[in-house]
Amino acid sequence: MLSAIAGVPSALADLVLPRCCAGCGEPQVVLCPRCARLLATPHLASPRRFPAGFPPTVAAAAYAGPVRPVVNAFKEQGRAELAAPLGTALALAVAAVRLGVDGEPPLLLVPVPASRAALRSRGRDHVRELTRHAVAELRAAGVVAAEGRVLRRRGRVRDSSGLSAGERRANLTGTFEVAGPVRPAGALVVLVDDVVTTGATLTEAARVLQALPGAAGPVVAAVVAATPRAPAGPPLAPLHGDLDRLSPTRGSD
Ligand SMILES: [Zn+2]
Repeated sequence: MLSAIAGVPSALADLVLPRCCAGCGEPQVVLCPRCARLLATPHLASPRRFPAGFPPTVAAAAYAGPVRPVVNAFKEQGRAELAAPLGTALALAVAAVRLGVDGEPPLLLVPVPASRAALRSRGRDHVRELTRHAVAELRAAGVVAAEGRVLRRRGRVRDSSGLSAGERRANLTGTFEVAGPVRPAGALVVLVDDVVTTGATLTEAARVLQALPGAAGPVVAAVVAATPRAPAGPPLAPLHGDLDRLSPTRGSD
């Protein structure tokens, strides 16, 4: 029964399947306030084996506890209604990473492109969906932001599951290329992705983006969630007032 329903559009699935919080299972909500709060704890991500060249990266949440099933429900189970709260969490991380940069440059959000295999198996590019929501949230908060599909994949990459951090890095080298003549014209380039674990993907993507002419400052990154290491990274300074409205609880139920 469930497998037969898995392929139908989520709007229809909402009518067929009872809603519950993707994090904890609380009924009648897409995401309960308690789980939503876990998506609003921006902090610097620090992978265990900090790869050389890993860009300054802010995560909105720790990839642990109820956050894991929330991200996976969106990514792997097609719960499209989670794009809004997760996109808002990503916007929060983007806003926080901008705090570390002088001035208030416009933002160019560059989604890490999906592999062909991932696109085939999921039938969608979930990171681009998150990016679109994040751009809309940032603009609504008065931040000049745009999506830039600057990167594309090239060649064939092995499935990275089961590889060590070093092997992942080697597997990824040469994975990305700039998709065309792009001049960010003074914008801060912010790589965006759903989850950072080893940091290998962001490091390789940032390396390619460093060569972009016209960008403001170094490439930085923002993600929904980062695999935590103990002790957790320091919390970031309070956000600008104009970004206070960015809360994953908004519009989530
Ligand atoms: Zn919950």
